Amino acid sequence: MRRLAVFLASSAGHDPAHAELAAHVGAELAGRGIGLVYGGGRRGLMGVLADSALAAGGEVIGVMPRSMVEREWAHERVTRLLLCDSMHERKALMAEHANAFVALPGGLGTLEELFEVWSWRQLGFHTKPVGFLDAGGFWTPLLGALRGIADSGFLPAASLDDLAVAPDLPGLLEVLEERLRHSAQPAHGEGLR
Ligand code: AMP
Repeated sequence: MRRLAVFLASSAGHDPAHAELAAHVGAELAGRGIGLVYGGGRRGLMGVLADSALAAGGEVIGVMPRSMVEREWAHERVTRLLLCDSMHERKALMAEHANAFVALPGGLGTLEELFEVWSWRQLGFHTKPVGFLDAGGFWTPLLGALRGIADSGFLPAASLDDLAVAPDLPGLLEVLEERLRHSAQPAHGEGLR
């Protein structure tokens, strides 16, 4: 795993445990020599994650539309801040620079980003693994809802099983690495470089 894209909240949430998790993940990624790709913000959990990875000497690539630089307070000290013209371009650039994608606690933006890369993997547009860091069971209700959707026949069980889920980062990285070892070429188009 060279670089991991992390989708997470642009706010802090109510429970301080979320910021502690983001700080832990940043330091752990840097310690393992895994570069971080994220939305480029300085606010909320996004900022905590980037600060922690940078403090531990890690590589941090932030990607943000120019129009959001003020709204999300672009992080000025990241290794590379890639500015783009749209949210679509932001996701494409993040996907291009990462080998895998995970979600930490977050809201609509986090979900939207994660579901896009997961659905594109299901369609065979890329083969980069996707997962949820289910620390403290944060994603467990959502995963239960997804199981219900699978039971209804709208989500292939194989797609749900393909999702990497673990309560801690080392466990999650292990599953992602395993998926990476077995990843084939994208079935459609050129995939995400
Ligand atoms: P949130 O989880 O809502 O705090 O959002 C986390 C991040 O996702 C923020 O940087 C948002 O700007 C970003 N985001 C929200 N919607 C989208 C979208 N459609 N495409 C790309 N990024 C998004």
